Amino acid sequence: MNYAYTLPRFPFFALCFSLLIALSSCVQEGKTIETSSPVETAIPAASANHAAAIPAPDSLLLQAAIPAEPAQATAVVAGSFADAATIIARKQVPILCYHQVRDWREKDSKQAKDYIIPEERFRDHIKMLADSGYQTVLPEQLMAYLTTGAPLPAKPVMLTFDDTSLGQYTVAAPELEKYGFKGVFFIMTVSLGRPNYMSKAQVKELSDRGHVIGSHTWDHQNVKKYQGQDWVTQVEKPSRQLAEITGKPVEYFAYPFGLWNPEAIPELKQRGMAAAFQLADKRDPQDPLHSIRRIIASGHWSPNSLHRAMVNSF
Ligand SMILES: [Zn+2]
Repeated sequence: MNYAYTLPRFPFFALCFSLLIALSSCVQEGKTIETSSPVETAIPAASANHAAAIPAPDSLLLQAAIPAEPAQATAVVAGSFADAATIIARKQVPILCYHQVRDWREKDSKQAKDYIIPEERFRDHIKMLADSGYQTVLPEQLMAYLTTGAPLPAKPVMLTFDDTSLGQYTVAAPELEKYGFKGVFFIMTVSLGRPNYMSKAQVKELSDRGHVIGSHTWDHQNVKKYQGQDWVTQVEKPSRQLAEITGKPVEYFAYPFGLWNPEAIPELKQRGMAAAFQLADKRDPQDPLHSIRRIIASGHWSPNSLHRAMVNSF
């Protein structure tokens, strides 16, 4: 894996370099847990009514039956970025994936409610994290940790939000900010400005308030099916648009439905993506930075259930 290309994009890494030397003898135990074949909600981007069109996920129950990966002991080598095996061996940071933050409606199916979290329940999730001593981290911190061993808060968590839905701006972001938390918002650009979705101005505001804006393609097509020009339509142009909106480079990508394959990774790298986030599938042994794991924080989950899933899945 060539990490050189990430260096200019991560000046923070340079600052971490001296720390890296100090940490070079630090051996990190990696306890990683993988599940098989999760499928994110299928959201037809052009549909006026996404909530009604969400098919059943088949992944959430799998998270309880998670085989442990053998722990490996590896050391960071001073003067170089960690190789893939070293990255995989590090303890994973829990990363949660939310979709819609809004109260349930009568027509919402049981399965859809995995992807729709009522406002009060969302507040309870975030309060549990804060009360339990979790601190949010952003992708740049995660990358520094994974590639150089830079330290993280004692109980790190990353909060991610997919699909651009409006409740992420009106409910989620203010709730995070109450606790000094920051989130990562993966934007599907086709939906910008549509009813019940965020506007460009709202995305810009989230960015200005210190949250991170990432790409979730133009219209949520499965990355595994892209050919030729699809990469321009689904990755290049949306990145450019989001960079124009926020005034910041777009370096993080979330796979629609969590679906990815190794062939997608060089295409994403060519287009400036320093890391890519899937759901709870096994990571790519050659490129764990472009197959970072997340779990969907189900709307059915109490704060206790969420905490249990975090502990068991990462
Ligand atoms: Zn999505």
